[in-house]
Amino acid sequence: MIPEVISKQPIAGKCTPNLRDYAADYARFSWADARAELSGLPGGGINIAHEAVDRHAAGGRAEKVALRWLGKDGTRRDYTYADLRELSNRFANVLRGLGYGAGTRVFVLAGRIPELYVSVLGTLKNGSVSCVLFSAFGPEPIHTRLEIGAADVLVTTETLYRKKIAGLRERLPQLRLVLLVGDGDAVTTEPDTLDFRRLLAAAGTDFQVENTSPDVPALLHFTSGTTGKPKGAVHVHGAVVAHHVTGRLALDLHPEDVFWCTADPGWVTGMSYGIISPLTNGVTSIIDEADFDAERWYSILRQERVSVWYTAPTAVRMMMKGGTEAARRHAFPELRFIASVGEPLNPQAVMWGVEAFGLPIHDNWWQTETGGIMIANYAAMPIKPGSMGRPLPGVEAAVVHLTDDGRIAICKPGEEGELALRAGWPSMFRTYLGNDERYRKCFVDGWYLSGDLARMDEDGYVWFVGRADDVIKSSGHLIGPFEVESVLTEHPAVAEAGVIGKPDPVQFETVKAFVALKQGYEPGEALRRELLGHARKRLGAAVAPKEIDFLPALPHTRSGKIMRRLLKARELGLPEGDTSTLEGGT
Ligand code: ATP
Ligand code: MG
Repeated sequence: MIPEVISKQPIAGKCTPNLRDYAADYARFSWADARAELSGLPGGGINIAHEAVDRHAAGGRAEKVALRWLGKDGTRRDYTYADLRELSNRFANVLRGLGYGAGTRVFVLAGRIPELYVSVLGTLKNGSVSCVLFSAFGPEPIHTRLEIGAADVLVTTETLYRKKIAGLRERLPQLRLVLLVGDGDAVTTEPDTLDFRRLLAAAGTDFQVENTSPDVPALLHFTSGTTGKPKGAVHVHGAVVAHHVTGRLALDLHPEDVFWCTADPGWVTGMSYGIISPLTNGVTSIIDEADFDAERWYSILRQERVSVWYTAPTAVRMMMKGGTEAARRHAFPELRFIASVGEPLNPQAVMWGVEAFGLPIHDNWWQTETGGIMIANYAAMPIKPGSMGRPLPGVEAAVVHLTDDGRIAICKPGEEGELALRAGWPSMFRTYLGNDERYRKCFVDGWYLSGDLARMDEDGYVWFVGRADDVIKSSGHLIGPFEVESVLTEHPAVAEAGVIGKPDPVQFETVKAFVALKQGYEPGEALRRELLGHARKRLGAAVAPKEIDFLPALPHTRSGKIMRRLLKARELGLPEGDTSTLEGGT
């Protein structure tokens, strides 16, 4: 049974939550106070890397472990805040020494190796713009991003360079320099291709961090490409105020925490919460170089004594597939808070957290465009499983619709509409690279329109309905795929479900579901009928799927989201569109 509300003690867990009383803390919050939690630079400047690293390295946390790196081969390496200051200073000196300064775009294409983190932080110190690309991309998606992003410098590994970049070089006239991280000394016979480690070793260890003003571009992130061609969102140094405070309030980070964000820095979560927020909050952050493996993950949670864990529904579902026994073979006495982002988190998954870890999973919502968490379930606030929670202090969120004359109207509680945020939070993106017009279209009457549909209940909890692009219109009903998928995954045989609208001459669209089964279950007519019956009983005939197909696995983006547009294109025999972020694609 899934409870409607998981109530909590006002002060839950092993340490006092940072946000204790939602209503009071929301009312009391101001961005100016949040800004005052950071040190800033003279004259009103602010630099992400200074707040993340130098501020701590200059104080009592200098010798504290900032990053604990777990290599694929079992290596375990610690970097203190002082180490990170020195290494990022060296990289900033490398850039400056070679003539790259403010505004230069420095890309990284690498797995989760220490050099990635050093490059990002050094780039930010130098006032240059950092963009990390997911290392499993094939040459074409890499080319597109380097081109749209007008990359000046690329840091990559020798292996990735030979496999993916060398052949692109002449099609990238703007790319002036490549820095190679080799296993030993990198072989650099090509012009403008230098050895990262050798340069770093020779560089000075002192660096005067660039005094960037809050509006100076710092980060470039490409969206996941779930609904179409990925867009490049530009973020500024002032965003660090939101990175910091959302980590403190939504992830409940305390300096004594060991924190593990499982996202790759090639996606916004892996940057905002895999690099910046844990460091600004002064915690020890775990980085695992290896890819997902349930047993490895359980071991990391236990052995590294992770206390706060931030992951994604796709990982949770994969762990659920293996059953709770796998989790129960381990003990996690330090673990006190689990959060998830990226896709809807089914109520089953929230409760699986309770079964496997003794803790519910706290869903939260945000986007590449928002730069930081905007809606969340908090440590001390009751959870309504299936809801994404309530807006962050400092964030005004509403469910809205557009009136006939194109104005914003706020929906009543329970009514479905588009999830919107009042513009002006510090980590708001500042443009879509090369598409300012599209950026401007996201804003109406001072509200940012997210493209997601949701409803807000009487208590201010937000419930995800679906992406505006994915919503199904059938016989006059609007059907969110999430609702249907959630019901299908209640069935013990179902590992994952993806639901689309199929054009229909009578009903406009009918609901079709694609289902991947858990280990030990076989597709067949009897199971199909059972699932159709289960869905009809739970959802009613108007909303339940009319058709169910079994697939060995559903198509996902590389960041783990179900690509419904691909299910639809394949079903209808239409072109697949941009598949650069498709998992397993090239
Ligand atoms: P693209 O914009 O290229 O189609 P994308 O929207 O998947 O890709 P991201 O910015 O990585 O790219 O993802 C943000 C989106 O992920 C949100 O707009 C929402 O649709 C979905 N999402 C994130 N968190 C949640 C959540 N907790 N519940 C439901 N959906 C979520
Ligand atoms: Mg999007």
